[in-house]
Amino acid sequence: MPRNLAIFFLFWLWCLPLFGLAYSNLLGEVSPHRLNLTREYMKDHYGIDSYLLINPQMIVIHYTVTPDLPSTLKIFLPDELPAGSRPELSPYGRVNIGVHFLVDKEGSIYAFLPLWMAGRHTIGFNHTAIGIENIAKNSRDLTEAQLEANAKLVKELVDTFPSIQYLIGHHEYMNTNLPHFSLYRENYPHYRTEKFDPGPRFMRRLREILKNRYHIHLLD
Ligand SMILES: [Zn+2]
Repeated sequence: MPRNLAIFFLFWLWCLPLFGLAYSNLLGEVSPHRLNLTREYMKDHYGIDSYLLINPQMIVIHYTVTPDLPSTLKIFLPDELPAGSRPELSPYGRVNIGVHFLVDKEGSIYAFLPLWMAGRHTIGFNHTAIGIENIAKNSRDLTEAQLEANAKLVKELVDTFPSIQYLIGHHEYMNTNLPHFSLYRENYPHYRTEKFDPGPRFMRRLREILKNRYHIHLLD
C-alpha cells in the first residue's frame, strides 16, 4: 500500500470514535487542493509541515456576519479565498477561511471541515483551535437556540478531546492577558485583525451554561 494511502487509512480508524459528533456534513469530502493549501498555510505561519489538527487545545466561537445558511455557504465552500474578497487576509495565504462547525439560527449543528484538519479561522491559533461559526449578522442576531447548541457542542468536543483546555470568543483572541495567549504562534507579527464576534454577552452566557449545567470550566 502506498505510504499516503496507509496514512489516510490509519486516520479513518483514528476518526471512528469521533462519529459520535456526526452532524450532517456540508462540505463533503475535502479536496486535495484544500489540503495542500492548508498545509502551505500551516507551514508558512506556524512552521508545521502538515494540514493536520493534532490534539486541539482550544475552541474559538465566531459569528459569520451573514443572514442565512445559503449566503454563508457561498463564502465558505470555495477552497481558495475569492480574489479581492478579503484584502486584510489575502496577502497571508491562499486557503479560504474555514471552520469545523456551523450553527444555524434555529440551533441546527452542521459539520464543515473534518476535525482531523486545521481550519483558517483565528490568526495565531489555527494550529490548535477548533472553530465554531454561528450564522448571524451581528451579536444581536444570535439566538437562544444557538447558545444552547454551542453549549451542547462544546460539551461533546471536551468529552471527545481531553486536550481541550481553552474556550474563547474570537473578539478575545489578541488579548495577551488571557491564559489562551500562551498558545499564540505566528510567523508574521503584523498579521492580525480586529474582531467583535461573538461578543462578551454571548461568551458570558455560554460559560455560565457550561459551568452550571455540565460542570465544565475552560480557561479563557
Ligand atoms: Zn470570527
